Amino acid sequence: MEVKPVLVRTRPERADGPRHRRYPGASPSGATEVLRFGQRYADLCDRRLADRLILEDAAEESGELSVHERITCHFHRRWVHECISSPVHVIILTGHRWCRHCEAEASVAVDELTGSVAVTCTRCRRSPGTAATRQILRTCHASLVAARESRRAQAAEKRTTTAA
Ligand SMILES: [Zn+2]
Ligand SMILES: [Zn+2]
Repeated sequence: MEVKPVLVRTRPERADGPRHRRYPGASPSGATEVLRFGQRYADLCDRRLADRLILEDAAEESGELSVHERITCHFHRRWVHECISSPVHVIILTGHRWCRHCEAEASVAVDELTGSVAVTCTRCRRSPGTAATRQILRTCHASLVAARESRRAQAAEKRTTTAA
């Protein structure tokens, strides 16, 4: 017999999954988390990024970490400053990348060299002075630092391998 869903949920895009907060109940992170969440990131070259993704997936699922406080993106499998400009990261309800005054999208400019991050409304050209904007600035800065450290460590590893 065919089972019909009682509640029909609209899914405008595949990406709405990671935005939903999950409820606590997962065990503390460790080898189990690598088994549970690691598969998704098995092919990533940057192992530090993969480790951080696994850690944040587990923390998000257990309710210890808000999806908006992540410095890695579950959906894009990247450091968050690298994909924050994707339309997927516009969340109208929470005000992330959204100017409520203009009801318009805000863009994020990330300068990897200087480490500067700016959120600007595409209509009024001002930065939405909201908690969500401050959160984007904070997480993107942290993500920039983590990515830089990871690159530095990778370069050092490469040097050691070549020298050996
Ligand atoms: Zn993303
Ligand atoms: Zn605006």
